[in-house]
Amino acid sequence: MAVRETDHSGNRISGEETRTARRRAVGAGSPLGLRANRIEAECRAKGLRLTGQRRLIAQVLSEALDHPDAFDLHRRVAMLAPHVSLATVYRTMKRFEREGIVKRLEFRGGHARYETAAKRHHDHLIDLETGQVVEFRNAEIERLQEAVARELGYRLVGHRLELYGVPVPAKERSEEDL
Ligand SMILES: [Zn+2]
Repeated sequence: MAVRETDHSGNRISGEETRTARRRAVGAGSPLGLRANRIEAECRAKGLRLTGQRRLIAQVLSEALDHPDAFDLHRRVAMLAPHVSLATVYRTMKRFEREGIVKRLEFRGGHARYETAAKRHHDHLIDLETGQVVEFRNAEIERLQEAVARELGYRLVGHRLELYGVPVPAKERSEEDL
């Protein structure tokens, strides 16, 4: 599933930029000939040793620019190592989630999806026609949520916001611009 990454102002951030930055941040290859990846580095920092299969799953998720579910991850991992089972992918995701290394996303009517927890905070819009997940950040929404929590007597420590939408036809869009 394709994902458009956007910054505050809705400008697109190219996936290539993210990938290049990641490549720069990682070190030499592992014994399996795989590059070290962000999840692996976090595991190491937490004293978690990764087996070959888990390292491979970590690599695939680290390089994902979308929000894959377990089936997507398994399909991608199986291209590199056909013997890795779907059950191993599920178990590994559960473990990573418990360690706070990956975030589990439960969008309406779909399978659980995953993304690395270290990603910069963002919210999601789900296109109900295509299932595409669009990432966005909106400073005003962030401020409003904090204000609501404060009014209720709380200090906001986190939130999850999901928008569900269908594409506005191009014709209507241009009329709104007039
Ligand atoms: Zn996301």
